[in-house]
Amino acid sequence: MNKPLASDALSDNLRKAQAFLARFKGAAAPHRIAGEAVTGAETFENNDPTDNSVLCHVAAGGAAEIDRAARAAQQAFAVWKNVAGEKRRALLHAIADRIEARAEEIALVESVDSGQPIRYMAKAALRGAENFRFYADKAPAANDGLSLPTETHLNYTIRQPIGPVGVITPWNTPFMLSTWKIAPALAAGCTIVHKPAEWSPLSAVILSEIMSAVFESADLPKGIVNLVHGFGESAGKALTEHPAIKAIAFVGESITGSHIMSQGAPTLKRVHFELGGKNPVVVFDDADLDRARDAVLFMIYSLNGQRCTSSSRALVQRSIYDAFTAGLKERVERIKIGHPLDPATEIGPLIHSRHVEKVLSYADAAAADGATIATGGKRALDGQGNFVCPTLFTGAVSSMRIAQEEIFGPVLTVIPFEDEADALRIANDVRYGLAAYIWTGDVGRALRVAQGIEAGMVWVNSENVRHLPTPFGGVKASGIGRDGGDYSFEFYMEHKSVAIALDRHRVPRIGV
Ligand code: NAD
Repeated sequence: MNKPLASDALSDNLRKAQAFLARFKGAAAPHRIAGEAVTGAETFENNDPTDNSVLCHVAAGGAAEIDRAARAAQQAFAVWKNVAGEKRRALLHAIADRIEARAEEIALVESVDSGQPIRYMAKAALRGAENFRFYADKAPAANDGLSLPTETHLNYTIRQPIGPVGVITPWNTPFMLSTWKIAPALAAGCTIVHKPAEWSPLSAVILSEIMSAVFESADLPKGIVNLVHGFGESAGKALTEHPAIKAIAFVGESITGSHIMSQGAPTLKRVHFELGGKNPVVVFDDADLDRARDAVLFMIYSLNGQRCTSSSRALVQRSIYDAFTAGLKERVERIKIGHPLDPATEIGPLIHSRHVEKVLSYADAAAADGATIATGGKRALDGQGNFVCPTLFTGAVSSMRIAQEEIFGPVLTVIPFEDEADALRIANDVRYGLAAYIWTGDVGRALRVAQGIEAGMVWVNSENVRHLPTPFGGVKASGIGRDGGDYSFEFYMEHKSVAIALDRHRVPRIGV
């Protein structure tokens, strides 16, 4: 069974993390508004997921802080939108340099704050720098457009940044996801008010320091990027309602996306949503089953199963179902649960005690609906902190709650299917449509299923490998819009058309 771990590397990481976290012990983790680190009278507790002790306090913003931040972003926009693309490129690369220089600190702080194993967080911190570099190189051409000569006019288009943008991020891999939103917005010429999730707010503090230092050193307005902590119902809501904010880039639950849409409706906000998923991994009997098993396990149990693209539903062809599922169970029971800072840890504690309750409630749902709890479905490490055993539900059918609802934990639901048509029917029988994975040795089948599956992204014989220029996002209840490449870039832009008449153009005359 899964055993706790202890090692020298853990002690070493704990010591380093404590040194980095010491600054948050004395004073609450601050907002950053117009370049200044500020905390108001209100704060909230941020807990350590390994034992639920108080890790630190965090400034709790509301409508007043959002208003100050939005005004600062609005003022800064008047300058930032006119900064030459080449200069924006250099500044975004400077932010990436500073992220790389503080990558170890970011990874350790994020790992303690979120419970995600350090083995994944080191890469996530560096991916933050990569996000800035990718969009830095797009900045010089950000405002270019097209020339479209017609018989009577020269018609040209310009891309212009939409204005100050609200960025609202979730608690899973928060550093990576925040940079994924903020980098293209800055490259486009927008200014930012960022509201991070209340359960993992600390890496946003470091990111705001890095960005502010770069803009300050270039003598640019201090309000280009602003950070306001707080709860969704207060700070988040105020941000989506603020008239100076022109667009909202949001990552989180589908239901929150609906709320944001209605909150933003009176001010006609443009919205970009990356929402929940219940992603199928379809394993046909002609697949390379060893590789398929590795991929199924990695895509649900890495990152504690708290990953939007996790393969939370395994659809396995009936002819291989028993053997494949038995192999999964054996491996799941060997997954190493432990302190997130131990490099050997494969699953750390879940983000919050409330989330543990939600995830474990699905063991009751599985039993009530007649599925089998093959392993897990309970707390791990003698019930301490937010540790949960990796869980495998087998013998499920598509109508069960465990096959329909996003659990967002280390929980895999396995559903048998008969043939290709049955696989497609089950794969599409959910309200979500973010990612899908197909395992088969038949190219024709891969093409047919990829075509028919309702998902924004499909991987064939692979796990979730990202190529930054490609579109990332979901259909159905999984999102609106795409990230990546020029896709998210376009979201932060307005397209202006200017038509100049040539001499031969004759204006129609009336009233002569
Ligand atoms: P959440 O929707 O509860 O919260 C996300 C953010 O929205 C937080 O900052 C929260 O404070 C804020 N918020 C909550 N209510 C709000 C409101 N009324 N107005 C404005 N802001 C509000 O999501 P979560 O639990 O933090 O994150 C997990 C979810 O995120 C999962 O559903 C997961 O699938 C999804 N996710 C999706 C992607 C993707 O790319 N599609 C990536 C990561 C996470």
